[in-house]
Amino acid sequence: MTKVAAVILAGNAAEVERQSRIALGKGADLVELRLDAIADLGPGTIRHLAKSLGEHTIATMRSPGQGGAQRRGRSPHSAVMREICGHRFAYVDLELEEDDAELDALARVAHDRGTKVIVSHHFAEAVDIHRTSEVLEACAARGDIAKVVAPVDDLDIAIHLIDLARTKTDRARPIILIGTGASGMVTRALADALGEEIQYAAWGNAAAPGQLPLATAARLRGREPIVLGLVGHPVGHSLSPVIHETALAALNLPAVYLPFDIPPDSIDPFLVAVDRLRIRGFNVTHPLKESIAQRVDELDAGAERLGAVNTVVVQDGWTVGHNTDVYGFRVSLRALGLRVGDRTALVVGAGGAARAVVHVLLREGASVQVTNRTIARAEALADSFDDSVAVVPMETLQRAGPWDLLVNATPIGMKGVTPGLPVPEPIIAKAAFVYDLVYNPTATPLLQAARRLNRPGTSGLDMLLHQAAKAFELWTGKSSPFDAMRRAAKEALR
Ligand code: NAP
Repeated sequence: MTKVAAVILAGNAAEVERQSRIALGKGADLVELRLDAIADLGPGTIRHLAKSLGEHTIATMRSPGQGGAQRRGRSPHSAVMREICGHRFAYVDLELEEDDAELDALARVAHDRGTKVIVSHHFAEAVDIHRTSEVLEACAARGDIAKVVAPVDDLDIAIHLIDLARTKTDRARPIILIGTGASGMVTRALADALGEEIQYAAWGNAAAPGQLPLATAARLRGREPIVLGLVGHPVGHSLSPVIHETALAALNLPAVYLPFDIPPDSIDPFLVAVDRLRIRGFNVTHPLKESIAQRVDELDAGAERLGAVNTVVVQDGWTVGHNTDVYGFRVSLRALGLRVGDRTALVVGAGGAARAVVHVLLREGASVQVTNRTIARAEALADSFDDSVAVVPMETLQRAGPWDLLVNATPIGMKGVTPGLPVPEPIIAKAAFVYDLVYNPTATPLLQAARRLNRPGTSGLDMLLHQAAKAFELWTGKSSPFDAMRRAAKEALR
């Protein structure tokens, strides 16, 4: 079973010891002591840490050239390494390049103390997989465990690393092969499945980009991993990772939810790799909802009707696309007690979200009007429904209405996107209830305007949570811990 090591980065020995004990108490098998981060590191400190924590410890003195802290004016690296190897730790990390000249002698001393030797190399930039393989072999030739870390800036490189790790399954020496960065997280998620010796996990701030938090790594340990995630371009701004990680943790499932930043021209290779990456399901976001709908093996009725998916379930390589936005919007209307049958609604926007909203409103029996910046897109949306949908140009909204419900299905008002209101205040005043699909910030400019006009309203958070809950159930077959998911989302939005 892969051992989980919490990486401890603290500036003094007392703090290192304190944090190590907490991390070990919270499920870490090991702690990696990043000794290079300790300001007053001397023989006494090393001896003390070896004595107090040694059997649970990887002693690492990362050199500046390999991403370690600068140590100007202190003992030379080689002297510190001799001191470290003279004590008993579970593992010591020796660097293939920095420790090259003395590596074999240091390893002998470490072995005499009963310490296992990890020989490591950390590439500063993404490299060709053949070079990675060569260096992994070089590390394996000199240590008990070979460790190579390489930056990963696209999923292709991560897949190569995973394939390389698989070819080493019958190796004489255990390996640790890590892709850093968000695109490399899947290499960490599969550490156990690939038989890796150690999973380095984040304790507090990640010491390397893409490290899984200790709780997640501990949850995956020794279990068949289920990889879930969010596919889009970009994916950094989403609340979905927080919501799903909370749900997976609450149910203690051996699963992880990762960001997959996939440019539109890389969808096909991604779908081909899904099985190899053990991906059991994923959400889809902008701009891939339509293109993935065209590529999955099967669509549920809602996704087929709308030509867009936001959730994919993968089973034995077979992909089924769903549109849980439809479900999310419908259930949120019910939860709000909003009856829309025989009522009038104005939908602002004509993209994928607007399409899901119009679909639900029509099915509930509402009379729907759509307006949009690009009127031709609103007309195309209206034409795609069998039921009648009226198109109202923005300029004539003043003469239309009133409406029982106004829905904003544009990103206007979203944090970091276009500021302002999707329609002017006099138009908002003609709506009895305002539903903003935007959920960040929770008090969107549109909802603030509605409040000024004494109109009740809601943000898109409930819709987001209901669609997430449905996706979770589709992937795991289990009821989602909805309240915990809501608390986590609200906390993240604070
Ligand atoms: P989309 O397919 O890209 O459509 C965007 C729509 O907004 C288009 O109608 C576009 O008009 C309009 N728009 C964009 N920028 C505009 C601007 N500056 N001024 C006027 N109109 C503008 O996006 P989508 O997937 O439908 O998503 C729309 C919004 O809904 C996003 O903010 C998304 O976060 C939110 N959403 C929320 C949930 C939830 O669960 N709460 C679910 C899905 C989506 P043009 O046609 O003229 O370009």
